[in-house]
Amino acid sequence: MNTHPILQFLNEAQQNAVTCDAPALLVLAGAGSGKTRVLVHRMAWLISECGLSPHALLAVTFTNKAAHEMRGRIEDLLGRPAGAMWVGTFHGLAHRLLRAHARDAGLDENFQILDSDDQLRIVKRVVREMGLDENEWQPKQAQWFISARKDDGQRPQDIKHNGDLFTATMTSIYSHYEQACRQSSLVDFAELLLRAYELLRDNEHLRTHYQNRFRHVLVDEFQDTNAIQYRWIKLISGNTSAITIVGDDDQSIYGWRGAKIENIHRFQQEYNDSETIRLEQNYRSTSTILQAANAVIANNNDRLGKNLWTSGDQGEPISLYAAFNEQEEARFIASRIQDYVNQGNNYRECAILYRSNAQSRVLEEALLQRGMPYRIYGGLRFFERAEIKDTLAYCRLIANRDDDAAFERVVNTPTRGLGQKSIEVVRDIARNHKITLWQAASKVVEENLLPARARNGLMTFQELVANMESETGEADLHELIDFVIEASGLLEMYLKEKGEKGLARKENLQELVSAAREFDIDQYLYDTELEAEEAGLPESADGESGLPVMEDEMPPLVAFLSHASLEAGEAQAEKYEDSVQLMTLHSAKGLEFPVVFLTGLEEKLFPHQMSMDDIDGLAEERRLCYVGITRAMKKLYLLHAEKRRLWGKETYPSISRFVREIPSSLIEEVRLNAQVSQPMFGTSSLMDSDQGPEGFQLGQMVEHPKFGHGVILNFEGSGPQARIQINFESVGPKTLVLAYAKLEPV
Ligand code: ATP
Ligand code: MG
Repeated sequence: MNTHPILQFLNEAQQNAVTCDAPALLVLAGAGSGKTRVLVHRMAWLISECGLSPHALLAVTFTNKAAHEMRGRIEDLLGRPAGAMWVGTFHGLAHRLLRAHARDAGLDENFQILDSDDQLRIVKRVVREMGLDENEWQPKQAQWFISARKDDGQRPQDIKHNGDLFTATMTSIYSHYEQACRQSSLVDFAELLLRAYELLRDNEHLRTHYQNRFRHVLVDEFQDTNAIQYRWIKLISGNTSAITIVGDDDQSIYGWRGAKIENIHRFQQEYNDSETIRLEQNYRSTSTILQAANAVIANNNDRLGKNLWTSGDQGEPISLYAAFNEQEEARFIASRIQDYVNQGNNYRECAILYRSNAQSRVLEEALLQRGMPYRIYGGLRFFERAEIKDTLAYCRLIANRDDDAAFERVVNTPTRGLGQKSIEVVRDIARNHKITLWQAASKVVEENLLPARARNGLMTFQELVANMESETGEADLHELIDFVIEASGLLEMYLKEKGEKGLARKENLQELVSAAREFDIDQYLYDTELEAEEAGLPESADGESGLPVMEDEMPPLVAFLSHASLEAGEAQAEKYEDSVQLMTLHSAKGLEFPVVFLTGLEEKLFPHQMSMDDIDGLAEERRLCYVGITRAMKKLYLLHAEKRRLWGKETYPSISRFVREIPSSLIEEVRLNAQVSQPMFGTSSLMDSDQGPEGFQLGQMVEHPKFGHGVILNFEGSGPQARIQINFESVGPKTLVLAYAKLEPV
């Protein structure tokens, strides 16, 4: 074993991967085998042993959180800061390139990022403006079409419709949508990638600059790259840079969003001098968990094939719990987490994973009831809440009056006497004169095209935004946002909302002000400044420096708004307080937790009904299950409910096929206080009869004088010996003699 500090604590295959000097390296390995760790150590190795400057490395990660962690670990290994190294997500890096070269990319320097909500709003408007029937040409479908085409690298002119009405119409919507975005200087997520690709493709001086600069390009989670990401990586690395990709075909879970597993094969073909290294030892999970994961994924065909083993302990059996319904599922989880924490552990070691965002509410409620801290990671993010988006829309207009999405959002929020009809007049004028909504509003006011009340409303709105800008000219970012919240009337409007909702919104707005205060513009720009010094770019074709607009010239407001779109949702989850982690299975990729609860293991929910009828869809669901299981280090719980209210309907689902694919010897079915080693699939034995003695029913909420509220889980025996099993919110499951229990229905 090599004892170089960077190679310590790596096995032989990992060391080979870290030190490999092939120009193209593929590390293909299963979950938890140290792929991400290899990337980190390889980067440190390249800097410290191969003499590469951090400036010469480009690394792509799956989340911003992963990027921050990667940088931190490399710096720990090197014992010094790694300044100008580019580490980020595809979207983050593309954004960075576009900011630095906005003009070359054909963008306004203050362009803003459009999230998918705002994108839908614009698509809707375009569909309406084109005189199309929204029922026939659904904006959601058009939005999907546009993103999918962009992910594939296609502009409207590249799409061949061969007379097919659907494709032709969708392409035409795409084209109009592009115009609308250009006019308002807005860039959606898929556009970031496509445009960053085109930027390099069409600007030779920039392409050469970056190809010369990045001596080594490294990509984590490669199995989930889409066509345009693949092309971008190829372009930026050129023929001269070395490239390292790591991935696991069994964890490809974004096929529905255009990711292509084939990219791994393509890589092997296109880089014919590439070397492939396989890692086979898993360091994350107990052997029980790993066996379960291997057994599930073995049901998929067309795998590249891996042999994953661990020298770790067998660990605890996997617990399977059949809950009565989703509330009870949530309460069970909460009580198990409480037990775990009572034993001296932390909340943050526990993750609750779900297939669908819709499941999170009930889980949250159970945690809230017990006063347990939790964080939703990547769910409805802080910056996606209505009050935050309203406030930021005003800010976006301050930065750029032509932002149509922001205009639409707040022109009549709070209400100022502008009905849909009046706004339609503004839209008409914008369309007919090919101007933005803001410009159209000015025209309406000047030419007196609306009744007095609506005209006044528009005037007030425009003056308000102008006023906000002039009043806050010298103010710090957080002072500006504070001012906007008050002056816009948003705060007053929200406080009129009934109950706690208004207060919660107020708190969120205060949080936004703190976020702005904390937003450390210096840190954000640190890398780019360094890089500007080091860059030494060639003169561009128009005689200007190749880096015309650097981020350090970006106004703080513009930088903050970009940050809100791209990064801050994750940063919220990253705050290091001790809380239970809630997230979808998709956003759990790459992460690990000592205790994992996989919820809703039911047919139609997981595998999801949308995907279960076709082979590819089902295979992707299974990979998602493999991702879920392999997040667990020590203890895995599998949960399903006998009855679930989902998407507004009462359902009686059967247990997920994925549970059946796990050998029963690894599973222990949890039933109340007792643990039965033989799993009982199908209907739970709790469900023999709904009706119990004394008129009580299974699933009913009751109150006990000492233990408080609980749900009836089971009845046993009859007569004076009859016992009742109740899952109490305070103490978890208990079995009581019914005759003495003094239960009251709630
Ligand atoms: P995933 O496929 O889920 O992304 P991965 O292959 O990227 O997983 P890592 O996250 O890099 O795996 O590693 C999994 C865990 O194993 C981490 O906690 C890591 O620190 C640990 N680990 C990796 N290699 C070793 C090793 N040689 N010795 C000890 N621990 C290791
Ligand atoms: Mg990883």
